[in-house]
Amino acid sequence: MRQLATIRRIDDIQPIDGADRIEVLIIGGWSCVVQKGIHQKGNLVVYFEIDSFLDGSDSRFESFRERFTKFNGKQGLRVKTIKLRRQISQGVVMPLSVFPEIKSPKEGDDVTEVLKIVKWEREDEAVENLGGRKLGQSRPCSKFPRFIKQTDQPRIQNMRLQHHEASKFEISVKLDGSSMTVAKITPTSPFYAEAIDIRCGMEQIERPSLVGRLKHWFNKKFNRYNEPVYLVCSRNVNLNWNDGSLFTSVAKSQVLPTLVEYQGPSIALQGELIAPSIQANWEGVDKPSFNVFDVWDIDEQKYLKPDDRQDLVAELGVPHVPIIGNKVRLDELLIPGSSINDSILSFASGPGAYGGKHREGVVFKIENGTGVSFKAISNEYLLAKS
Ligand code: AMP
Ligand code: MN
Repeated sequence: MRQLATIRRIDDIQPIDGADRIEVLIIGGWSCVVQKGIHQKGNLVVYFEIDSFLDGSDSRFESFRERFTKFNGKQGLRVKTIKLRRQISQGVVMPLSVFPEIKSPKEGDDVTEVLKIVKWEREDEAVENLGGRKLGQSRPCSKFPRFIKQTDQPRIQNMRLQHHEASKFEISVKLDGSSMTVAKITPTSPFYAEAIDIRCGMEQIERPSLVGRLKHWFNKKFNRYNEPVYLVCSRNVNLNWNDGSLFTSVAKSQVLPTLVEYQGPSIALQGELIAPSIQANWEGVDKPSFNVFDVWDIDEQKYLKPDDRQDLVAELGVPHVPIIGNKVRLDELLIPGSSINDSILSFASGPGAYGGKHREGVVFKIENGTGVSFKAISNEYLLAKS
């Protein structure tokens, strides 16, 4: 669950040129415009991140009524990126005293659940993420496999990067599509039995004939099955290979043939599925494609390092998300007079990789194998998309 509402300290308060009724609160990497004089530097507050949906039936959010929208059948405030007097404002800040249900608050506490805050999503994304049927009627057949990590990236605004300034990172373009995972689990894997249990619809692909199906039934029944298992998943669920969805058709045509040939240890290829029908074709493509951004080593339960991943993906001949740089030290991106976070945020904006007007942002993954990674979403994108 993403931390949407947290207890934070106000790091700083800054004036806005030419505005005498509002000011900017600095909270971690976030800037948030508020009415002047309510907050004091150093105070603890409740901070609602962008994409929080604040339920309008809670009277404490009443003051936002004129900005209410509908989500999941409810009226409420969708917290999003806005610009006021040429100043970006992200998030909502409210005093702790408004929320007596938060007992003994401490800096950093996640209060998303106590305050019943849910994540706002575009309707099509929400349906898919809940395991519903959209994107050409994808059909979930089980929960996301326990032995594969689900894709996600923390936001740069919540990262402390000071002690990483000398570390080297891979920088890739963040594509705005839908997360997709295609995995191959071989019989020697400790997770093979589990994979067999949740495989779904692959029987018909592997063994279309009646004899083949009988043989498969027999092997399964008597535990003699010893073929690799292939799984295809959307962000949150394991799908049926025969659901006729965009996920499975792209997995079958662009990924499966090379995975079948691949003879290495069990892996999950994780990438972004982009297509004219996804995210209102933000990327501006004319056909669907799967673009790998991570490879999960299933038996080792960890991600491949960026250079190992890039090599393997090239060898497999599957497209990779565009790489902007390898082994880039964060301090190489420093803009004089700016913090490292702000420097990276301005770097996040740029043209789309495939013809889209703006890219969504960039993703940083550390090269040393410790797994540190984060996303920096372009503010131009956030302002343009909503
Ligand atoms: P968000 O789309 O804001 O939920 O951010 C996390 C998601 O970005 C991941 O789950 C991936 O589906 C997606 N993504 C797109 N491009 C990349 C990339 N280059 N590296 C990692 N994740 C990516
Ligand atoms: Mn996304």
